Formats: sequence, structure tokens, C-alpha cells
Amino acid sequence: MELVGHLINGEIRTDASRTQDVFNPSTGEVSRQVAIAPANTVEAAITAAAKAYPAWRNTPALKRARVMFRFKELLEKNSDKICRMIGEEHGKISHDAMGELQRGIENVEYACSAPELLKGEHSRNVGPDIDSWSEFQPLGVVAGITPFNFPAMVPLWMYPMAIVCGNCFVLKPSERDPSSTLFIAQLLEEAGLPKGVMNVVQGDKEAVDTLLKHDDVKAVSFVGSTPIAEYIYATANANGKRCQALGGAKNHAIVMPDADMDNAVNQLLGAAFGSSGERCMALSVAVAVGDEAANRLIESLKQAMQPLKVGAFDNSSNDFGPVITREHQNKVNGFIDSAEAQGAEVVVDGRNPSIENHENGFFVGATLIDHVTSEMDSYKAEIFGPVLQVVRVNSMQEAMNLINDHEYGNGTCIFTRDGEAARYFSDHIEVGMVGINVPLPVPVAYHSFGGWKRSLFGDLHAYGPDAVRFYTKRKTITQRWPSAGVREGAQFAFPS
Ligand code: NAD
Repeated sequence: MELVGHLINGEIRTDASRTQDVFNPSTGEVSRQVAIAPANTVEAAITAAAKAYPAWRNTPALKRARVMFRFKELLEKNSDKICRMIGEEHGKISHDAMGELQRGIENVEYACSAPELLKGEHSRNVGPDIDSWSEFQPLGVVAGITPFNFPAMVPLWMYPMAIVCGNCFVLKPSERDPSSTLFIAQLLEEAGLPKGVMNVVQGDKEAVDTLLKHDDVKAVSFVGSTPIAEYIYATANANGKRCQALGGAKNHAIVMPDADMDNAVNQLLGAAFGSSGERCMALSVAVAVGDEAANRLIESLKQAMQPLKVGAFDNSSNDFGPVITREHQNKVNGFIDSAEAQGAEVVVDGRNPSIENHENGFFVGATLIDHVTSEMDSYKAEIFGPVLQVVRVNSMQEAMNLINDHEYGNGTCIFTRDGEAARYFSDHIEVGMVGINVPLPVPVAYHSFGGWKRSLFGDLHAYGPDAVRFYTKRKTITQRWPSAGVREGAQFAFPS
């Protein structure tokens, strides 16, 4: 059986302290195995990156950007292959995988503007014969640790920008769907990246802890669940590293009584059930304002959900595929059970769908639950499955209080025709990414992505302008070239 390995200094290696099964979630079968790196393999990747760093740091930004131009072309040329690899291990249908890849490519496109982004700031004559400027220097070796749900896009949030800024990179992808991530990284060498600048190690906690504690790793970008994000942030900080750690989410949509209900329902369907709800920006709670709006919403959703098709990744007529593992399938089903047991009403039940010829796949059908309250376990937790819960409230302020009181603050949305309400909402909601009639307000590549509260630990958001700041350190130089004959004596007052 194929063993997915590491990319270290341009070579594929399969050294492993253990191996782990990689499943095809559409069939439930093991399709590959992945090498789990011991600490010394991770150290070899860090050493390769550190060795490549001095030359790469001194490569002009324009030349570094040219690698990204070629990389973008290779990503486009190989898109069908990449999407198939994502489908095989993650379960995404090709239209969804293509969307993920496209959003990743947009980050590569933004990284192509590195010479412009790294220009720095200059002030002439800040004092007599004195000029001052700030420049943005790379950090050295930086690391990325990424989740299973976007094996192409989330790594592409990180290393294209880190690399064009002059850093060398070690990536630890999710061990659950590692193949597309590894294949994409290999394309960088074909694009002209020198060996050792980009490295990939497969693994788990041992690999992550080695990255977090190694002196040569200067910064860590993490995306994954909140408990692990919190651990990564604390450990990286304790080891003197810069860190941004993006965590989990519970994204609410407020449905106002004046909303265009047909539009709201269509948008909710895609945002709640697309990718089986395994998106950190998935809308998993609809907060209906007033019983009349709630009744209309439930009726329309019930109708609209009837034709939805869950099924195998390789049938593009399916709307969404399986969840990632059997264990996760059981967890999602368990949340539906608990909502029911705690008094909610399961209006559309997606537990245990029967999928012809794929009886052992990890499927959960689209599920709609009404009369959910904030005390229920299914409301508090991030379910990460195709489950839309409806909470009924009496006013917009009550809806906003609910959102503001939740521990997560990644994304949110309001469906309304009232501009004043929308403006009040975006101004006062305690969430990092806000949509007005836009269900998945994922910022484009030239803005930055990040949640508030326990959805992000750290100061700088992912990708966009914040990534340039995250992957560089500012140096400010003050320089005097005295005019002929002008010399100052010693000055004991603070220079002003
Ligand atoms: P996860 O936290 O289980 O794993 C993420 C990464 O951490 C993986 O590479 C994994 O190997 C590693 N890891 C797991 N346990 C570890 C441990 N004990 N010590 C050190 N490293 C460990 O997350 P996941 O299940 O792969 O991904 C889904 C989660 O990611 C969801 O919570 C989702 O909301 C979140 N996510 C967030 C964003 C965002 O931008 N905020 C984006 C995508 C996914």
C-alpha cells in the first residue's frame, strides 16, 4: 500500500516512527498510509530549511515572486489531479474542491506582489542630514500546522507569503488527508524553488511539539480546533516564538422578518451543508427573529432540503460528500441525538442515510433542528457536520446577544432588507468576519482572515496584509551622512 511521506530538502522520505491509515471517506476503506515522523525527521526538515535560508533571504523579492507566478500556473495545470486527491481523502465533491483550490491560488497571486508589499517606508530629512526608513526582514525558518478540512487552501494561506517574504518553511499537514498537500508542495520545486526552502513533514503531536520547541523555528501559524490552537499558542509563546493560532467556530446567521426568505434559504443551504458542514465558516445556526419568520424559514428549508444529495466524492451531481472519519460521523450523529434528547425538534433527519454502493462511507445527510436553545450541548459545541440548528428569538438585539455571548467569533451573517439594521449589526457584533446577505464572508486574498474571541489566538490574522507583517520583522534604520564640514559636538539631551 502507498505510504505518503515527507518532503525534506527536495527529497521524498518515508522514515516513520509509526504509520497511520488514510481513509477514502466515500467508501470507508483504507486507501493509503501516512508516515508519522519521529522527532529527528522533523529536525532534519528544520535543518534543511535553516541551511537554505541565507541564500533565499538574499534572493531579490522579484525573483522570489517569479517562482510564485510559475507555481500558480502549475496549480492551474494540475487542478483536476489535485481535486481528485482532495476528494479521495477528504470526500469533497469536485466543484467544492475546485473552489477551495481557487481560493488557495488567489493567495499565491497575492504573494506574487511581494516586491510591492515589501517596499518598506522611507522618510527623508527626519533631522539635519538624517534619513530614516523601515524595512521588513524575514524571520528565518517558520512553521505551519494545518487541519484536514482544507488540505490545499489553508496551507496556501501560509507558505506562499512566508516564502516570498524570504523565509524557509516547514509544513505539518493533517495526517488524515495528506496527499494533495504533499503533491502541491512538490510543484514548488518544478516552479524553480531551491531545495530546502519548502519542506513537509507528516505526523502528529510528536512532530508538532518538535516544531514548537526547536530554537531555529521563529514563528508558527496554526489552523485547527480551539483546544489545540490554545495549546499551540501557549507552547509557542513559552518557547519565544511568534504565533497565530486560528481555532474553531460556531457561525450564526440572523434571519430578520423582512429578509428575502427565498434568498436566505438558498444561501443557508450552501453555507450549512456545503462540504458537509466541515468548514470553519459554515453557518450552523440560524437565529430567526419572531415566530412568524421562524415558521416561514423552517417550512422553506424543509422543502428546499428535500432534493439535496449526499454521496460519494466522484459523482459531481452530489451536493456534498461524507464526513472525514467514522469517529466523526458518530460524533455528529451524537449531537443530533443529544439535541433531540434535550428537547429540540429534529425536522429533517440526516442520521444514517443509505447511499447505494457506498454503504460503508462516512455519510451524514442534511439535518435541520428547530427549537434549539443556548443551553443545549449541540448549540454550545462546534458540530462540524451537515447540521443546521434554528434558534427562535423575539428581537434582533436578543439575536445579537446570543452571538456575542458565544465563545467563538469567527463568522456571522444577517439576512435583511434594512440597511440601518445591517449597519448596526456589523458595528456591534463581536465577530471577526461579518456578512450582510453574504453567508460565507471569507475575505478575499488581499484582505486578511481571522475570527475574534476563542476563534483566534494571537494578534495578526491569516493571509492578506497581516501575513506580510506576521512573516517579517520590522527594522528601522536611521542614517546620517553629515554635510561637508558640519560636525556636532556631544549632546546629552535626548535627541529631538
Ligand atoms: P485539529 O485541531 O484536530 O488538527 C489540526 C492540526 O493539529 C493537525 O495538523 C493535527 O495533526 C494537529 N494536532 C491534533 N492534535 C494535536 C495535539 N494534541 N498536539 C499537537 N498537534 C495536534 O483540527 P482538524 O480536526 O484537523 O480540523 C478541524 C478544525 O479546524 C475545526 O475546529 C475547524 O473549525 C478548524 N478550522 C479553523 C479554521 C479557521 O480559519 N479558524 C479553518 C479551518 C479549520
